[in-house]
Amino acid sequence: GGMAFVYPDAIVSTAGHVDHGKTQTTYALSGVWVMRHSEEVKKAMTIKLGYTQVGIYDCGEEYYYSDGILQEGKCPGGGEPKLIRRVSLLDVPGHEVLVATMVSGAAVVDGALLVVDASQPAPQPQTAEHFAVLDIIGVRHMVVAQNKIDLVTREKALENYEQIRNFLKGTWAEKAKVVPISALHRVNIDVLATYIAKSVPRREAELGKPARFSVLRSFNVNPPGTPPEKLRGGVLGGTLLQGVLRVGDEIELRPGLKVDKPKPGYQPIYTKVLSIEYSGYKVEEARPGGLVGIMTGLDPALTKADALAGAVVGKPGTLPPVWTAVEIDTKPIPRAVGEKVEPLKQGEVVLVAVGPATVFGVVQSVKKDVVSVALKKAVCAEQGAKTVVIRQVKNRWIVTNYGVLKG
Ligand code: GDP
Ligand code: MG
Repeated sequence: GGMAFVYPDAIVSTAGHVDHGKTQTTYALSGVWVMRHSEEVKKAMTIKLGYTQVGIYDCGEEYYYSDGILQEGKCPGGGEPKLIRRVSLLDVPGHEVLVATMVSGAAVVDGALLVVDASQPAPQPQTAEHFAVLDIIGVRHMVVAQNKIDLVTREKALENYEQIRNFLKGTWAEKAKVVPISALHRVNIDVLATYIAKSVPRREAELGKPARFSVLRSFNVNPPGTPPEKLRGGVLGGTLLQGVLRVGDEIELRPGLKVDKPKPGYQPIYTKVLSIEYSGYKVEEARPGGLVGIMTGLDPALTKADALAGAVVGKPGTLPPVWTAVEIDTKPIPRAVGEKVEPLKQGEVVLVAVGPATVFGVVQSVKKDVVSVALKKAVCAEQGAKTVVIRQVKNRWIVTNYGVLKG
């Protein structure tokens, strides 16, 4: 019974220079504030992805509506909106975290929403860097929100528009739509929603492949003092990269628990899927393309406070290997400006991001482009997985290199 849930069918990442309005635009589209975090890549950082799902609707007008601009869920005049599709918006706080998230494959991005502040010359450095990263990761669908249109004159807006067009000229995004908006005053958000719906293709769900779920958060959802017989199982929040997970499925979680016996290493964790939820919608099946919460049979003490963030989940026996040392074939991340970064050196402490995991490590050796790193915590990843090296440069964590896991 009940209405069938319409799954989000693509992940659209925001991109663009700090303060240009990525979070405000996400809010205007969805009506939901994505958490704000500090700019720094914190110690023991887990990549805190800000995800929100946005429905895009037909109200019988020239342009579509989105959740953020419907009035109490209704079309103007009170009509019932017709859902066209649902997409997940990814709004990651902080430039470096955004770059790390995109490149490490923590989330597979299908399209980009590049937010450009119309009151500043374009492109600003992080705008150019994000665009370079989109290019690296193979994103080929983008809509530009020319934001803060309320702050500029018509002439300034046109001048800025020409700068954006020039910047994109000769690239894969040459024909990208540029939509003037004011995220703050919700001007033209219908046009933006329309072009997002029309420009970003629906992801091929690859439902037949073995399930692969990236754990980005983990929680204990029980209020303190819950009696044992009422305890709800540990919850894993994250995104399914391929396949499906169903209520009742047996699952394996890797790297799992650190153990000393019989010998030091990691032991996979086995449990069961008890329930599945997409921001309030209970469903029987998790699919790729959005952020989903999975309640498991795990002791909630194991999942509290993101303790299992960075893990990978699948059907028992289908998961990739676990690594405590990695070799990475690296290339430098393109930078628009900035200080020259010294080559990686032996003994240097770095962060390594691969899939949903971000862990500390110590550089063991550097031979040409191949960097060996001993990890403080294990990661579960395929050989060939996209990997990012994050370094501390003058008290800031900076994404300097990316490449693939060699083994
Ligand atoms: P982000 O760093 O790209 O996520 O930027 P935010 O969404 O946090 O916005 C940065 C600042 O710009 C905030 O103070 C917003 O209120 C402001 N802002 C965002 N959009 C608009 C807009 O359309 N008009 C005006 N005037 N200010 C805006
Ligand atoms: Mg923001």
